[in-house]
Amino acid sequence: MDSQSNTPEEQAKDLLSKMRTGGIWEPEGLGLTLMKTKEGSVDLITQENTPFSAQARIRLRLLLGDIGWEMNEDECQLIDVQSTDPFTRHMENTVKRQEMAQNNWTCVKEGCGCMMSAFPLEEGRWEFLGQEEMETPMGTIEEVEMWSVAVKCPVCDTEVMMEPYDYGLLAGDDLMLTYHTAKVTYTALEREEVIRCMDANLDNVIVTGTFCPFTREMLPPHVRGAVVMVKEREKNEDIEEE
Ligand SMILES: [Zn+2]
Repeated sequence: MDSQSNTPEEQAKDLLSKMRTGGIWEPEGLGLTLMKTKEGSVDLITQENTPFSAQARIRLRLLLGDIGWEMNEDECQLIDVQSTDPFTRHMENTVKRQEMAQNNWTCVKEGCGCMMSAFPLEEGRWEFLGQEEMETPMGTIEEVEMWSVAVKCPVCDTEVMMEPYDYGLLAGDDLMLTYHTAKVTYTALEREEVIRCMDANLDNVIVTGTFCPFTREMLPPHVRGAVVMVKEREKNEDIEEE
């Protein structure tokens, strides 16, 4: 694993070099949104219209300069935050990030150019990559599960590995509510649906843990601890134990 990054400069450098082109960076609590445009360069996309964010912008510009990264601010949009509540702001931010992802991310294969929003995202395959040590905001070290989602480019057949967060941005909430294991499909239920299923005595509703009870596959974190409806997948699949 990496040696631990301690200074803000090292942390920023580490984070940016690992981020892929088109990746979005929102340093926590600063009210700034950036996108990596190429190695060594980021675009500042939005800044919240507060004195705090304006100062953070100056500090970030200096910090990035120190590590040899350029911050392009020509297209930066000022976001008026006084008029909106935090929830609305959060929703607006999410929509903006989704738009950026859908309009900017292309296949990783050079020359392909296929927009990733045109990939068959519903076929995304979740892969567990192992544990990695991460520093928490409190300064303690925690073991974190690393996952990625593999999706195949419909044009050049390259399998692109995406970070779960990036996948969620592209795929949208609806796709994140459904998860396929080898034998069953889980669909997360809203509270009203849970009530309706319980009233109807449906027996295909379960609460998920870490593993799929039918295949023993490890479930990705966002599928755990949820009330889900279970459906068997296509019946051509063998139900006998492997
Ligand atoms: Zn491609």
